[in-house]
Amino acid sequence: MNNSWSSEIWRLVGLLFVGLFLGLVTGRFALMLLLIVSAYLIWHLYNLHRLDMWLQGKRTGMPEVAEGAWSNVYYHLYRLQQRNRRRKKRLATMVNRFRESTNALPDAAVIMSANGTIENWNKKAAELLDLKSPHDTGQLITNLIRNPEFARYFRRSDYAEPLRMKSPLNELVRLSMQIVPYGNKQLLLLVRDVTRLYKLEQVRKDFIANVSHELRTPLTVISGYLETILDAQDEWADENDKILSSMMQQTIRMQNIVTDLLLISRLETDDSEHKRDQVDVPAILEMIREDADALSMGRHKIKLASDRILWLYANHEEIVSVFSNLIYNAVKYTPEGGDINIRWFADERGAWLEVEDNGAGIAPQHLPRLTERFYRVDVGRSRESGGTGLGLAIVKHVLKRHNGRLEIDSELGKGSTFRCYFPISLVIEKEVA
Ligand code: ADP
Repeated sequence: MNNSWSSEIWRLVGLLFVGLFLGLVTGRFALMLLLIVSAYLIWHLYNLHRLDMWLQGKRTGMPEVAEGAWSNVYYHLYRLQQRNRRRKKRLATMVNRFRESTNALPDAAVIMSANGTIENWNKKAAELLDLKSPHDTGQLITNLIRNPEFARYFRRSDYAEPLRMKSPLNELVRLSMQIVPYGNKQLLLLVRDVTRLYKLEQVRKDFIANVSHELRTPLTVISGYLETILDAQDEWADENDKILSSMMQQTIRMQNIVTDLLLISRLETDDSEHKRDQVDVPAILEMIREDADALSMGRHKIKLASDRILWLYANHEEIVSVFSNLIYNAVKYTPEGGDINIRWFADERGAWLEVEDNGAGIAPQHLPRLTERFYRVDVGRSRESGGTGLGLAIVKHVLKRHNGRLEIDSELGKGSTFRCYFPISLVIEKEVA
């Protein structure tokens, strides 16, 4: 028994003695004892009332000092309350930290009970699934994501593989949904925006389909002719030239496709081979202009205006590939009598190669897709002129590797301008002797 309780008992004993004494003096024992016990009871009631008031109030400070056993009760209650407050604060900090970290997650996370009742979610989930607080708390997830595939996935209860589906909010967005069971029959739904990945997969699939398609035509032609040669040995002499030149043409096309494909895959994957040197661009342009003249066979007027002292710090082979692709394209897609102007110059932003023609031009809907592999405006015409459909894809990749870019201005029937930009950091002003 501690001090306050023993003093409390002494207080009671003392009071009873006072009652007895007053009883002796007055001769009214019962009345005196009743008065003393009533006073003691009132005092306890008063303290009980103070405690009640303190409990109902804000309970910020220690309750006013009380006497006897009450001081003990007050003190322990106060300690208990302080401990609870500290614990609550720690818990609140932990919850806040947890909320902040889940909000920083790049993926959406939704916490649900075993039957799919939504309990909590992070910021990304609100964005991807349009969850709104407090309205959606307690709703069933299958009521909010109204998709039969998702409902099936939810019911399956085998969540080893994620489910890929269209976003319920936007047809163009693809989501990967994965349920992870955890804790005491809780479920965590993780949602990731995989639109970019989905598009890349599509591009890869298209690419493979295109490669096979592109290689099939030349191979069919070659094998067809070979069959003809074998079937009709006698007529071989007459048909000789036609067959051989066609086979040669298709073989060259196939070789071009394979060379371009290899270059493109090297550009995409290998950075180590990207050697840079001082490249004499004016000399390269002279050389390409001569080849373009040969390709044009006098059908076009090709002009070259090039800044003699303007060199580039770049990869020689890649620059040749970019410039020849653009200049040969101008020849291929400009009808007889057309003009082709090639300009190589620098301004305060960097160096520019401009190839302008007044040829076929390109309709605006094709422009954003021109640099895709195998994309052609006119498939027949491109194949006829020996095109692989990979030229502009190569141009785009090379420019990207040099921190540059390709700009295309074109108007159907009026002509096109293809402009390559190279940043000023690659520009070299070479002194000519
Ligand atoms: P291709 O080998 O078919 O020329 P490219 O990637 O070099 O492939 O070009 C893609 C398509 O862009 C071409 O098929 C053609 O339709 C269009 N194109 C490119 N250059 C020009 C140009 N100077 N004028 C008109 N169309 C062009």
